[in-house]
Amino acid sequence: MKKIKVTQVKSTIDRSERQKRTMVALGLKKLNVLGSVLYIGAHPDDENTRLMAYLSKERLLRTGYLSLTRGDGGQNLIGNEQGINLGLIRTQELLAARRIDGAEQFFSTAFDFGFSKTSDETFRIWNKEKILADVVWVIRKFQPDVIITRFPEDARAGHGHHAASAILAREAFYAAADPNRFPEQFSKGVKVWQAKRVMWNTFNFGNTNTTSENQLKIDVGAFNALLGKSYGEIAADSRSQHKSQGFGVPKSRGLSIEYFTNIAGDAPVNDIMDAVDLSWTRTGNEKVSDDIQKIIQQFDMQQPDKSIARLEALKNYLAFNINNSYWVIRKLDEVTEMIKACLGLFVEAVANKQLAVEGDSLRVSFNVINRSKVPVKKVKILYGDTSFVLSDSLPYNQVRSVQLTRLVTRPPLEDQPYWLKEQMGEGSYTVNDQNKIGLPQNMDADVKLAAMVDTTYIGMNIPLQYKFTDPVRGEIYQPVITVPALLVKISPAVVLTNTIPKQKPQIAVDYEVQQAAASGDASIIFNSGSSMKMVKININPRVSVTQTMVFSIDSILKGKKDTSLTVSIALSNKKYNGNFSNYLRLINYDHIPTVHYLFQSKARIVNDEIKVEGKRIGYIKGAGDNVPDALLAMGYEVVYLDQQDITESKLKTLDAVITGVRAYNTNEYLSGKYDILMNYVENGGNLIVQYNTSSQIGPVRARISPYPFDISRNRITDEKATVRILQPTHPILNYPNKITDKDFDGWVQERSIYHASNWDSHYETIFAMHDPGENDDEGSLITTKFGKGNFVYTGLVFFRELPAGVPGAYRLLANIIALNHKKGF
Ligand SMILES: [Zn+2]
Repeated sequence: MKKIKVTQVKSTIDRSERQKRTMVALGLKKLNVLGSVLYIGAHPDDENTRLMAYLSKERLLRTGYLSLTRGDGGQNLIGNEQGINLGLIRTQELLAARRIDGAEQFFSTAFDFGFSKTSDETFRIWNKEKILADVVWVIRKFQPDVIITRFPEDARAGHGHHAASAILAREAFYAAADPNRFPEQFSKGVKVWQAKRVMWNTFNFGNTNTTSENQLKIDVGAFNALLGKSYGEIAADSRSQHKSQGFGVPKSRGLSIEYFTNIAGDAPVNDIMDAVDLSWTRTGNEKVSDDIQKIIQQFDMQQPDKSIARLEALKNYLAFNINNSYWVIRKLDEVTEMIKACLGLFVEAVANKQLAVEGDSLRVSFNVINRSKVPVKKVKILYGDTSFVLSDSLPYNQVRSVQLTRLVTRPPLEDQPYWLKEQMGEGSYTVNDQNKIGLPQNMDADVKLAAMVDTTYIGMNIPLQYKFTDPVRGEIYQPVITVPALLVKISPAVVLTNTIPKQKPQIAVDYEVQQAAASGDASIIFNSGSSMKMVKININPRVSVTQTMVFSIDSILKGKKDTSLTVSIALSNKKYNGNFSNYLRLINYDHIPTVHYLFQSKARIVNDEIKVEGKRIGYIKGAGDNVPDALLAMGYEVVYLDQQDITESKLKTLDAVITGVRAYNTNEYLSGKYDILMNYVENGGNLIVQYNTSSQIGPVRARISPYPFDISRNRITDEKATVRILQPTHPILNYPNKITDKDFDGWVQERSIYHASNWDSHYETIFAMHDPGENDDEGSLITTKFGKGNFVYTGLVFFRELPAGVPGAYRLLANIIALNHKKGF
């Protein structure tokens, strides 16, 4: 154990005491409610936050939301994160929403692979049995009395994932109660669970109204006088946390009816909780109820600590009468929370920096204060393998602090979000530790505290956090992240080795030393599958400064057929001896805690021939995409165009102007640039508009094109859908690259979204494609000549295919860009 210095610091505690006491008053009432509801949907944002706030804070039921996915496949309105990065952001947005509406959050391992038209397709990709097992596991663990679904099982659900969530909820209701289903779970600490019923919370969205007056109705519009808010107000605060989806919503007040229809189990008559015993009788211990009633009656808002002795007596009684009862165990935890709240006990474990570097030291301060007159003694801290007594006794309203410095020995991959530790499958994350399934994030406590309060011991888990003060935002807590001493990555993500005109493609190796000792003589090892190449280097010891080395791809790749390249750095010195191959991905937004994970970067090598015409491309950024990186890899010069750059003289110098995804949704100023852009096209330019949405967000009425067309919600979700070529002689299919069926091989996630519809007769269509069971749609790409130039609108998902290194997508985009170079036509 390290040397410990005990200091006394002036109190700087400023948490809102009033708000806390309100929570205590509600928490005490909740001790007498023994019932639970699990809401099941497919995505972050599917949940009915108003109903959940009502169930959790008005009915005081244990309330959970099981979102089958983390929303990885959606569109991002606040940045360019996609896929698992977006799933990480939405996970945190859901947790932020739950902190407001009071419910708990769960996830299955299902991956949100993007829009799906049917539950059949969804189940094929997810592996239905695997996700059903996850839902059964969460039900057996959470033991809901009532399960509520958001969606019906048919097409009215509007999305294959939605319908699938309803099917899984119903099947899991039966399977969780069946000892023959998923019996391997029983050795992991769960038992069969029979919920009372499954109800569908019907809805009236857009054109689909599934409610009717003969359904069960509940008014959830009540006003909570303790909180000073109605559930419609709480729900709006909760839902507005979904910032990456632009889901800020207005607050509703007054009567608010929710409708329910029974799907499985006994149908209720008056209320969704009909025939569910919500009292202590279900534990065989009715007497507890009276004790709690007395605590509630005697609770003094001005002096909450007067309730501590009675809460302790209750805690001791429950501890001796657990009988392995789910509800007694839960209520015991709640009583402990109430004791801590009545004490006004504040505890924190804060580090002096956010990144804890493996092999380096970290200074941590433990600060505790008791703001009650009830004695708190023998405060003991357990941090890793270190334990110590922080204080023999906590005097009233005085902070007690201990600082200690410890070597970081934890392997950085232990901090990895648990669902990213193993290689994921096509349709779901791989999680080998059954006990982690369902959890929203890593829940391991870094620090534990035990203390004697009056006459009983209480224990609590404390996260290790980095605390700092931002001049604008005030005091901020962020998670402490364990990182390797040396970070390394390669870029770009896609290398084109066979562009015409020829280029000399390069690969950059970036490294960043986190601890000065991770430096000196080392080797970079390039691995391209069929060959390895080692280069001796000297690692610069400057901490937290990215160093870049550039290599020509020809000097690294021996095999001409290699399609991927990874890199690691081998270090061998007194302190660090081993291979470093990971880089740190940090995602920072103000509305969520810092999100991170470690990854081994990989460059995809594309050896297919890609002929390129033209030089300078203007790019108008939209909601965020990585298309400009692909343009650079193809050898174009990319000129970013902001509002002030869109002028006749600037556009004149450009071979094409491409608008980023949803540029017309996110940049209101583009409406005012219509004439300039059309003049550019008319005088021989080439305007390529990637998809925009026809949703309520942004100025969808913006004029985009020389001749009218509408933007529909038509899309081709099957990334293998056959592409039928309508006009084999069109330049888009012939110059400079000859486009064939092979160019549509290897596409990922989908073909296209937000097709054009109702287009003017000036437009030509090039492709026809359809999803299984549907008719051909020609709106994935429409083009027209206008004056001397060309205009294209396309819903083809270049923003997905180019970063994935799909050669055909590069060849096709090169041809669209070349439209105003008419050689041969
Ligand atoms: Zn959804």
